[in-house]
Amino acid sequence: MRHVTRYRTYPSHPVEQRLFNGFVRCTFVRNWCLENNVYVDSCLPDLKNQYPELKEVQSHVLQKVIHRIVASLRALRAMKAKGRRVGKLRRKRIHSMEYDSTGFRLTGNRLWLSKIGEIQIELSRPVPGRIKQVVIKHTPAHRWFVAVVSETPDTPEPTTGTRAVGIDLNLENFSTDTDGMVFPHPHNVRKAAKRLRRAQRGLSKKVNGSRNRRKQRVKVARIHEQVENRRNDFLHKWSRYYVEHYDLIALEHLNIKPMVESLDAKLRGRSRVILDAAWYKGREFIRYKAANAGKYVHLIDPAYTTQDCFICGHREKKDLWQRTHCCPACGYTVPRDLNAAQNILKRASVGWGTPESTLVEIGTATPPILAVQVPVNDTRISRL
Ligand SMILES: [Zn+2]
Repeated sequence: MRHVTRYRTYPSHPVEQRLFNGFVRCTFVRNWCLENNVYVDSCLPDLKNQYPELKEVQSHVLQKVIHRIVASLRALRAMKAKGRRVGKLRRKRIHSMEYDSTGFRLTGNRLWLSKIGEIQIELSRPVPGRIKQVVIKHTPAHRWFVAVVSETPDTPEPTTGTRAVGIDLNLENFSTDTDGMVFPHPHNVRKAAKRLRRAQRGLSKKVNGSRNRRKQRVKVARIHEQVENRRNDFLHKWSRYYVEHYDLIALEHLNIKPMVESLDAKLRGRSRVILDAAWYKGREFIRYKAANAGKYVHLIDPAYTTQDCFICGHREKKDLWQRTHCCPACGYTVPRDLNAAQNILKRASVGWGTPESTLVEIGTATPPILAVQVPVNDTRISRL
């Protein structure tokens, strides 16, 4: 099993200078390769003869820069093959260095990097297993981090449990599930986002190239980082909750939800995009946590999950303001999002990779109980 652990680090001034210097060299190699259309690391020895200053960086780190370009190109090509519109790889600055298998040594909380020196890292938790790779990174908010990639020999056993849940992601709350658990949108993220807007306004007023502008830019970057941290914190707790409590987790597949469902003039713009990104990330968190725990995740086609009645399948259009699902055909009445979550679980229960009998059990046992369990206006609110 693969683990990535991130640590904060505080390099001394000379070490910091060498790291920045290394970033400049990596950036040079990347841009040189893009300009000359060379994508093999065998060009490096010649390049080093031509530009001796490249020898100030550990050779594997430079190779990794080129491997990165190749990987990105491959990803672009794959996207293009799928019919997506793709651009070109651009020149950009590099703010991290990857040490693959050699050139580093971690003893206690001291990390030695070849051609850089020793750094003390904040070893907030032990590194699990054998270290494969070390990445040192500088953020726009002037913070240094070390990501340690390690491997342990264990592989997760597939679960034999049968606890299943369907989760509906919606605008009113972050999510609602089939057991009536509601996660509201995290407040602290909203607050930080508000401060971010203000700081960005401040930035636009500063004179270009001035010292004040530079200071304000770091301020903006710090708030950006805070928004990101708070969101990640929420998403980690959210995904952990589901992976711990359930064996099958059913979610909507991204972005094919009919827009009619989510359209509200005010919500259509930026906030909607941010939400999409948060949901996407949350789903990825659930997926990798579930994979590590041997649990199942099912992504289903979200078309009509809100419109269909869970009990009888009657399809009726709903306006956004209709918060309650009240079926005219069978009289089934529950909160709108709960009905959607139940539909999501129903669709996922078909084709779950467990024995037939369990499928039937889940398919038939859940609906009647749920209808009684969660009356309208009596949803449980999470306390995350
Ligand atoms: Zn119905």
